[in-house]
Amino acid sequence: MPIYKAPTTDTLFILNDVLGLERYGNLPGFADASPDMIEAIVGEAAKVAEEALFPLNLSGDQEGCSRRDDGSVTVPKGFKEAYDQYCQGGWIGLAVPEEFGGQGLPYTLHAAVGEYMSSANMSLMMYPGLTQGAIAAILVHGSDEQKATYLPKMVEGTWSGTMNLTEPHCGTDLGLLRTKAVPQGDGSYRISGQKIFISAGEHGMTDNIIHLVLARIEGAPEGTKGISLFIVPKFIVGEDGSLGERNGATCGAIEEKMGIHGNSTCVMNYDDATGYLIGAENKGLSAMFVMMNEARLGVGLQGLSIAETAYQNAVAYANERIQGRSLSGAKAPDKKADPIIVHPDIRRSLMTIKSFNEAGRAFLLWTALKSDISHRSPDEKERQNADDLLGLATPILKGVLTDKGFDHAVMAQQVFGGHGYIEEHGMSQYVRDARITMIYEGANGIQALDLVGRKLALNGGRAVMAMFKEIGDFCEENRADEAMAPFTKALKKGLNDLQAATMWFMQNAMAKPDNAGAGSTDYMHLFGLVTLGYMWARMAKTAQEKLGSGDPREEYLKNKLVTARFYMEKIMPETALRKVRIEAGSDSVMELAAEAF
Ligand SMILES: Cc1cc2nc3c(=O)[nH]c(=O)nc-3n(C[C@H](O)[C@H](O)[C@H](O)COP(=O)(O)OP(=O)(O)OC[C@H]3O[C@@H](n4cnc5c(N)ncnc54)[C@H](O)[C@@H]3O)c2cc1C
Repeated sequence: MPIYKAPTTDTLFILNDVLGLERYGNLPGFADASPDMIEAIVGEAAKVAEEALFPLNLSGDQEGCSRRDDGSVTVPKGFKEAYDQYCQGGWIGLAVPEEFGGQGLPYTLHAAVGEYMSSANMSLMMYPGLTQGAIAAILVHGSDEQKATYLPKMVEGTWSGTMNLTEPHCGTDLGLLRTKAVPQGDGSYRISGQKIFISAGEHGMTDNIIHLVLARIEGAPEGTKGISLFIVPKFIVGEDGSLGERNGATCGAIEEKMGIHGNSTCVMNYDDATGYLIGAENKGLSAMFVMMNEARLGVGLQGLSIAETAYQNAVAYANERIQGRSLSGAKAPDKKADPIIVHPDIRRSLMTIKSFNEAGRAFLLWTALKSDISHRSPDEKERQNADDLLGLATPILKGVLTDKGFDHAVMAQQVFGGHGYIEEHGMSQYVRDARITMIYEGANGIQALDLVGRKLALNGGRAVMAMFKEIGDFCEENRADEAMAPFTKALKKGLNDLQAATMWFMQNAMAKPDNAGAGSTDYMHLFGLVTLGYMWARMAKTAQEKLGSGDPREEYLKNKLVTARFYMEKIMPETALRKVRIEAGSDSVMELAAEAF
């Protein structure tokens, strides 16, 4: 049977020691986030993940969701009870302002515990996950009345949320969307159209479902300039907050899919459904972007989550499966063979995944902290810098952690040999579940284009310069520190590659945009390699400072340094390869005629 244990020691090291959350006590909500409080919350989250959510992961995959003839949808056994337990623990509203029933704690903490929940059961966690995204959009763009009507129930979890962008003929290019909104003269609209692939679109776990739907108001301009965002509740909400008639928002079918079987992915039909505009007319995409940006961090988190669970299972298997002898002599002479963890190639896989997961966790929490600072800091300059870095980091986090999350789920599966391909060990589920994270919330190719085409040049390159400065300053500050040399030298080299590739784009992509498109995925990964390297250098610095100071985590800290060295020696050199590929430009990519493929 698969196993999962929340990596609390690592999370606490990153939050308290590396990022020093305590230093941010001046920000609203952070005063309560003392190390003791953080430890208590992280510990409680670990319990919920391990004991309530994880036991339903495999059964949820096997059972899946189904649609009854009346359009209602069933979720796997135990999901409703586990969902209720999650809601009662107040986890949905951990970082939501207190006035709407949340706890107002840092989003960083929300991200930290979110990893555990998603590792334990990604399909189940998508139900409250979508709600959290919808809450974020209503918080930013909703009217006071909409906030008062919807948020408390959604924070409580008695109502859930969804996001409806995709239509059969459009996913990436939302300018093509056809769903129509007709004004009714009373402030409401009639929404008609079909949305597909809608996660958590229909289920019976909550009393109401608040669909956020993109549609075009009659007569609005074509393309993305004519798209508006609407709240379309499953049940119309009366002025006193009571639930009224069933709205024309129904599930037409459940998608049969490769993974995340426990989540109901629905075709949603809107037949003259009553909807309410949220935000300004024709500004729906920017309103939805609030939700999408939050969701992109959430999907990056999913990539990490699955890689972590897959890794833990691979480690357990590698310690227990005996096969062959160690190249340097028997390690378990009392047995007929050694456990496969003695083999360098198995260790290469495990170290690769471990080094990405730990740096990925630090990157996720670093990014989440930028989000907190960008929203909560009283200092405008600090807010702007954090917002710049958050915007830059979001596509990298989404694209890199999910590409690697899938690769590493496969790598962990490989450790099992043929047993990884058999459903019994659960590895097949991790591979199948991880696959979607590369596709939804903007396929990873689109994340790469967002980074190269939008984020690099934004505000005259302010964000990218700030990031280069932050990493460059770190290397400079630690230049004289001999013990840090293995980390800072490799990081500086990676940074040089990244800066050279950035410069190459500046000089070669303006006049020839295909050069940007052809190099964008390499660039996203190059940026990811350097950013994760920066996380490793910071973790190594902290580990060195703590070691020898009587810190009881001595073994853990030493292991951190070994893993940091592995990353710098074995992973970081890939930056040179990525740079060479980028600089090769687009000619050979674009030359063949479409018929030649
Ligand atoms: C299980 C599941 C759950 C989902 N949940 C939701 C949900 O809750 N709500 C929702 O609205 N949607 C949801 N989606 C939809 C998902 O977000 C889309 O599938 C995704 O955005 C891609 O759109 P598409 O499938 O139409 O692919 P397309 O847009 O047709 O893209 C096909 C390929 O072409 C590439 N491509 C497209 N345009 C460009 C370009 N300009 N430059 C370079 N490459 C390009 C893409 O990267 C992709 O690889 C879900 C999908 C699945 C499978």
